Amino acid sequence: MNNDLSNIKKAIKYLNNDQCVAIPTETVYGLAANAYSDKATSKIYKLKKRPKKNPLIVHYYNLDKLNKDCEFDKQFLKLYSKFCPGPITFILKLKKTSNISKNVTNKNQTLAVRFPNHKLTRRLLKFLKYPLAAPSANISKGISAISRSDVLDEFGKKIKFILDGGPSKKGLESTIVSLVGKQKILRLGSLEKNKIEKFLIKNKDDNKNKIIVPGQGKIHYSPGIPIRLNIEKPKKSEAYLVISKKKITNKNYFYLSKSKNLNEVAKNLYKTLRIVKKMSYKSISVETIPNKGIGETINDRLMRASKKK
Ligand code: AMP
Ligand code: MG
Repeated sequence: MNNDLSNIKKAIKYLNNDQCVAIPTETVYGLAANAYSDKATSKIYKLKKRPKKNPLIVHYYNLDKLNKDCEFDKQFLKLYSKFCPGPITFILKLKKTSNISKNVTNKNQTLAVRFPNHKLTRRLLKFLKYPLAAPSANISKGISAISRSDVLDEFGKKIKFILDGGPSKKGLESTIVSLVGKQKILRLGSLEKNKIEKFLIKNKDDNKNKIIVPGQGKIHYSPGIPIRLNIEKPKKSEAYLVISKKKITNKNYFYLSKSKNLNEVAKNLYKTLRIVKKMSYKSISVETIPNKGIGETINDRLMRASKKK
């Protein structure tokens, strides 16, 4: 516990000095910086090699802190009380009086906000006088980091401090929901679509406020080698990712789960892609993953990861 506190204090020191720090969340690790500081947030873009036009998700401790930066209504409060803290990101209207850095929003009048559910990061956010802008802690377009060692793989000594909170429980990014204009899911994520959809208000279409998610390009979450999906007969030379126990297991077989447990598949996906890449396989094939619940998000990520550059 004391160790946790001293690490949180270290993180605060770096953050107060406009440095980036990696933080654990239940979805994936974030590359965090003071969201009110132009200097700090520009470092996120530089480290990640992220295009400037791609805005950042800002992480808050609670509604009190959010109130300084965003407008919100009853509908948001309903979703907040159901799902937060948790793996959901909301697009809200930015207040004119907000101090959020222009780097974060790409000068839009909307802000992506999230309340991560991780003990250490929540303690950190509670102490800070500013929210944390934190995209996934990986080089742009690559695989998200879900542990301290993944973050080191991505940034090495370029990152000043990693707050180690163990492996991320979910292993896939947050679900993004827009509450500006037409309410809808903009990116599938760790919170299953069917759990949120029933709470969204339909037919409130407002085309003037059409929101898109920049940076959700065709190729994303990529291990940098080709991936083939829905494969029953893999080639011997490729890594084969499977989700259920096989009678015969070859050495190129990698289990995401042994019992078709899709939460387990989600948690193991990025880790396994990294392992396979490190073993110098030149291609990957994946067994069919049922397209239901979190399986929809897993398939979304695999599809983007499998796109050619
Ligand atoms: P990541 O960089 O992995 O944390 O993913 C964050 C995603 O949130 C990116 O695809 C961003 O484009 C998206 N995002 C951030 N802010 C906004 C916003 N104001 N409107 C729409 N999408 C956003
Ligand atoms: Mg990302």
